[in-house]
Amino acid sequence: MQSYADFHQQSLSDRDAFWAEQAKRIDWETPPQQICDYSNPPFARWFVGGKTNICHNAVDRHAAQRPNDAALIAVSTETNTEKTYSFAELQREVERMAATLLDLGVQQGDRVLIYMPMIAEACFAMLACTRIGAIHSVVFGGFASGSLSTRIDDAQPKVIVSADGGSRGAKPVPYKPLLDEAINLAQHKPAAVLLIDRGLTPMNLVEGRDVLWGDMRAKHMDAQVPCVWLDSTAPSYTLYTSGTTGKPKGVQRDTGGYAVALATSIPYIYGGKPGETFFSTSDIGWVVGHSYIIYGPLLGGMATIMYEGLPTQGFDHQPDGGIWWRLVDKYKVSVMFSAPTAIRVLKKQDPAHLTKHDLSSLKALFLAGEPLDEPTAKWISDGLNGKPIIDNYWQTETGWPILGISNGIEGVEKNQPRFGSPGFPTYGYNVRLVDEATGLAVEGDDAKGVLVVEGPLPPGCLQTVWGDDKRFVSTYWNKMEDAATGEGRWVYSTYDWARRDADGYYFILGRTDDVINVAGHRLGTREIEESIAAHPNVAEAAVVGVADDVKGQVALAFVTAKSSEGLDTPEGIKKMEQEIMRQVDGDLGAVARPARVMIVTALPKTRSGKLLRRALQAVAEGRDPGDLTTIDDPSSLMAIKSMV
Ligand code: ATP
Ligand code: MG
Repeated sequence: MQSYADFHQQSLSDRDAFWAEQAKRIDWETPPQQICDYSNPPFARWFVGGKTNICHNAVDRHAAQRPNDAALIAVSTETNTEKTYSFAELQREVERMAATLLDLGVQQGDRVLIYMPMIAEACFAMLACTRIGAIHSVVFGGFASGSLSTRIDDAQPKVIVSADGGSRGAKPVPYKPLLDEAINLAQHKPAAVLLIDRGLTPMNLVEGRDVLWGDMRAKHMDAQVPCVWLDSTAPSYTLYTSGTTGKPKGVQRDTGGYAVALATSIPYIYGGKPGETFFSTSDIGWVVGHSYIIYGPLLGGMATIMYEGLPTQGFDHQPDGGIWWRLVDKYKVSVMFSAPTAIRVLKKQDPAHLTKHDLSSLKALFLAGEPLDEPTAKWISDGLNGKPIIDNYWQTETGWPILGISNGIEGVEKNQPRFGSPGFPTYGYNVRLVDEATGLAVEGDDAKGVLVVEGPLPPGCLQTVWGDDKRFVSTYWNKMEDAATGEGRWVYSTYDWARRDADGYYFILGRTDDVINVAGHRLGTREIEESIAAHPNVAEAAVVGVADDVKGQVALAFVTAKSSEGLDTPEGIKKMEQEIMRQVDGDLGAVARPARVMIVTALPKTRSGKLLRRALQAVAEGRDPGDLTTIDDPSSLMAIKSMV
């Protein structure tokens, strides 16, 4: 048995040999001539000279061998529908969609913007693009016309694929009027708009531009559209970051590197096997949806569940806080992927939902996107009878985990996950902690610093920022001097602040912007949030630092309660505030005690469910909250503004 640390080290020191081996997991029309070209740092080119196709590897090769195995399971508690597509059926639908795109004039390298709810046709559209070498840009279906129009102008799509609408809590959400308005606002005009008519909301079609999928599908019923063999380095898609820290960045992904990275991650990180079922509760509008609803599971030969609906709504529009677990039971899900924010929603539900269903197929639950606080991890772990709860740390930019627990590697020792920690650097990532001021590596048993990855980034990570190589370099890269050789080495960072303990476990403490300085003490807002979250009636907490004349900065805490019982009087509110302050005093000391604790009904979040701390901080300091195009529920921020 090899230790994981050795295995990880080997993936770096024998980089080319390591990835050459992993590249065998996918089919190549022409094998790569060079594994990694890093002659123009920080730009890395993976599997140079190789030709492959993502759709071939995700669909066709499995359809050829196991045509009747389940590939896509589309479940909607909104429209009360469930449909399983086998690999053969999925291939046929993708070919019909690919033929439609070709018919509408889409050529290799053209962009196709996908603005869709969580329905099977969205998956067909993504795979149809990769099949013909078109570059997709999926825009989250909840975005308003302003955000959509800037993305239209950035991507300049030949065709937009959309639908009449989505549905949320059994109420239709029209998409088409937003899309029409966005196209009006945009400089760029698509040649055609392909619309899925779900019969949810009425649509006006624009003559000469809008076409219906129903008609096109019928026209191309028997279409056979071969996969186009693409250079490994050809772009496959662009996708925007969540916009938590400012204006979203358009990440550009390649073809071969992404396919190899995801195909490797399925067994190594997730322990998934062909024929099993993967269930990610994310949305195709986010990176988790790209990598672990669509591409990863299918590349790994697994079936994948696409779920449209709330985590608390069941079939026949009945309340069901156990709907996810019902699906795990019904489809024998082996790997599940969700986000801490979703688990915090479930925390407000009856925990009995977790024990009502047969969850024996489930091997582990993976969570990513935000710090996973210990109380939340413990709550779900207890609820799932001690099944492994594994925190993954990564980003839109990387496409797959930077930190995690890779327990599916044969011949390599397994690591125990620890609550509060996303574990260890994933194979292929050369992770360091560096001092923010000097840029030098921080070593030692309890090291704290900015988390960086030394270049080259492994396969699957962003190639560049779409249309903006300069922004790619200036946003993410710094040159770090090697103390011994004086040589400059490129390091990548999104400025997350982290700690590494004596056993090598990493802990994400928040973004460097979220580190606050109270009377000379540096505190991660996350540490304070974690302490507050341990209060029995706290559902969620957000802590920000605000300017203070005396102390430099003080912490302000915003909290949502699990139950409103006892919070209907000023005395009740005061009591809970004081309990929270005592809790922080006890855990972290009085320096960390928030100057005020405000109990609010909702916290401002991005559409992807991340806390918008910068907006909270701006409002608390009486400043303009800046770019709010990615906010989910503006009224939550308004309510807080009137409170402070
Ligand atoms: P933007 O870059 O536009 O400001 P964003 O960083 O929120 O938005 P994403 O790519 O969706 O966009 O999120 C990646 C970030 O989310 C990470 O850099 C980190 O700050 C946070 N994150 C992701 N996973 C974890 C995790 N497991 N623990 C702590 N933080 C996490
Ligand atoms: Mg980011």
